[in-house]
Amino acid sequence: TTQPDRTYRLGVLLGDGIGPEIVPSSVAMVDAAVTAVGVEPIEWHELPLGASAIDEHGSHTPESTLKALDDLDGWLLGPHDSAAYPEPYKSQLNPSGTIRKHFGLYANIRPAKAFEGGNAVVEGTDLVIARENTEGFYADRNTFAGTGEMMPTADVAIMHGIITRAATERIAHSAFRLAGQRRKKVTIVHKANVLKMTTGLFRDVCREVGQQYPDIEVDDFHIDAMTVHLVRRADEFDVIVTENMFGDILSDLAGEIAGSLGIAPSVNSSDTHAMAQAAHGSAPDIAGRDLANPIAMNLSSGMLLEWLASRHEDPRLTLAARAIEDAVAATVRNGVSTRDLGGSASCSEFTAAVVEEIRKAG
Ligand code: ATP
Ligand code: MG
Repeated sequence: TTQPDRTYRLGVLLGDGIGPEIVPSSVAMVDAAVTAVGVEPIEWHELPLGASAIDEHGSHTPESTLKALDDLDGWLLGPHDSAAYPEPYKSQLNPSGTIRKHFGLYANIRPAKAFEGGNAVVEGTDLVIARENTEGFYADRNTFAGTGEMMPTADVAIMHGIITRAATERIAHSAFRLAGQRRKKVTIVHKANVLKMTTGLFRDVCREVGQQYPDIEVDDFHIDAMTVHLVRRADEFDVIVTENMFGDILSDLAGEIAGSLGIAPSVNSSDTHAMAQAAHGSAPDIAGRDLANPIAMNLSSGMLLEWLASRHEDPRLTLAARAIEDAVAATVRNGVSTRDLGGSASCSEFTAAVVEEIRKAG
């Protein structure tokens, strides 16, 4: 098939801390990868976000940034250090929460894949967590519940969780579609013996959706049992689908089992928008010193290309995504890595080595 000669337009949100180091690293790799597979150069749009946006625009996530993102094909989001913002910004929903909510980015896809030489707890781990990202037991995301928390007196705090059929159906479809491209197995994680109505509904709706995918094997576990299984045999799982809070906790566990949280990528998407975001934070302790490991952000950017490939039926972008993933793995295998992985390369040296690797392979 002939591809439309389309120019993809992507946003760049540098964010705080190490963001201005790891995001440009990812831009350089994406540029090299699309060149290698013969896609038109990406049109990049840098937009204000985070501490610098507070100074210039009086908001950590300016309205103008949200408007501009709406017209783009996707974007790279750097980490933010919202704990360091002055009030009132510090108490507000943080930048990534604001963006996820504004665009209804309901699917948080978090792979945990062991690297050769990457210090995995369970070698061979290659799983993906499909985390529902808009409701469940994270009060601040609850669409219908406002903040989701209240304090009737100074000594009593109440929170509620919400599970809806509609939101569960869409994340379940994401999970089953993903499994169809992988090892064809979905594990539903819930706590239906205690949270009977909410997570019971989640489990039942996921099972119902699963009936539309007869070639995919389905099983389910309680969240507590699931942590035990992951520690011993993470390599036996393929796609895990779960609600918001369970997914957040499980993906940290799975990321570490696969080697290190520091290399864990993610993509947040709706049916029309997608955002690449590293699983780690802004690492203010090492910011500005060219020490950060950019791998999590790099692989997140690769996942964004993969998402674009399927949305725009452009298989060249799948090749570009694979080029980044392969070149990062090859570079680490060749002994070039940042300090957190036991190497001595700076962020920019590592980036240059990966870009060179992409050029060589392409
Ligand atoms: P947040 O609340 O934003 O998630 P956090 O408290 O989880 O932040 P991180 O910013 O993720 O903290 O940092 C935790 C530790 O991991 C710090 O010591 C930091 O330097 C280190 N770290 C995080 N990301 C990286 C990275 N990409 N490269 C190297 N070290 C990192
Ligand atoms: Mg964190």
